[in-house]
Amino acid sequence: MIIDGKQIASSIRAGIRQDVLRLSAQGRRVPSLKVILLGENLASMSYVRGKIRAAEEVGINSELVHLPDTCTEADLLGMISKFNSDIDVDGILVQLPLPSHINENRLLKAISPQKDVDGFHPENVARLWLGEPCVQPCTPRGIIAMLDACGIEIAGKEAVVVGRSNIVGKPVAKLLLDRQATVTIAHSHTANLAAVTARADILVSAVGVPRLITARHVKKGAVVIDVGITRVDGHLTGDVDFDEVREVASAITPVPGGVGPLTITMLMQNTLDCYRMKM
Ligand code: NDP
Repeated sequence: MIIDGKQIASSIRAGIRQDVLRLSAQGRRVPSLKVILLGENLASMSYVRGKIRAAEEVGINSELVHLPDTCTEADLLGMISKFNSDIDVDGILVQLPLPSHINENRLLKAISPQKDVDGFHPENVARLWLGEPCVQPCTPRGIIAMLDACGIEIAGKEAVVVGRSNIVGKPVAKLLLDRQATVTIAHSHTANLAAVTARADILVSAVGVPRLITARHVKKGAVVIDVGITRVDGHLTGDVDFDEVREVASAITPVPGGVGPLTITMLMQNTLDCYRMKM
């Protein structure tokens, strides 16, 4: 099975749209999202456009605040503080990466945890690891939603996550653990990666190295989720050698059209959830 991320995302978005339409039919305010972008990084601009488009699609009221990269940290903190105290703002997202004169950690900590739709605030991270209600980061949440949509059983399965970043690898490992998988996290110092990944019933690769995962890394019948996105000769490429691995996997995500659409969809879901937390 080739997992159609676009189709799964589209059906989840239809559900979110219904929920938002119901709110407006009841005469309530619809959820609102502020997206802050600094500078002219082409990839960031394209990601942000996708987020604004998705918000339009589901009926979430979104605003792109596009600032020059000369904007100071103090200005940015001031803007975040204004959005934090605005009761009509439900979600605040600062598109990463930020220019080097801005302290990314300080900025992410400044966003109210209740409006932290990316799930990057230390309070949400701590809550995730403690198993308390929290805003979950979008890509990991999207991966679990994708497995569920495909009816793929997680409990009792051997899951291997390649990559240990704070935004994908570590949180997706925790979410898989929460769903009763036995989880291994591999990284750049893992000795004999293929031997580790070949144990996986569910293999998630979040690295950013094209064709790192080949057929010899994959157990026959495994589910392979490719999070990686690298631009090679103008084309988006995943971590997985798709043509080779599809022959051994029972299910596999393509790049593009796999995890990406779910990430943006979960941003919409998180915005709606943050809105509901205030109701
Ligand atoms: P990071 O660069 O933060 O992390 C990459 C991880 O991969 C690190 O933990 C690193 O190990 C590990 N790694 C690097 N080389 C190897 C190797 N040869 N073997 C095993 N592990 C290795 O990346 P992100 O987590 O932010 O993103 C990962 C990929 O996913 C990127 O391509 C990114 O563009 C993509 N992405 C896609 C999203 C989507 O929606 N589809 C969303 C977010 C990211 P170590 O810790 O030891 O350095």
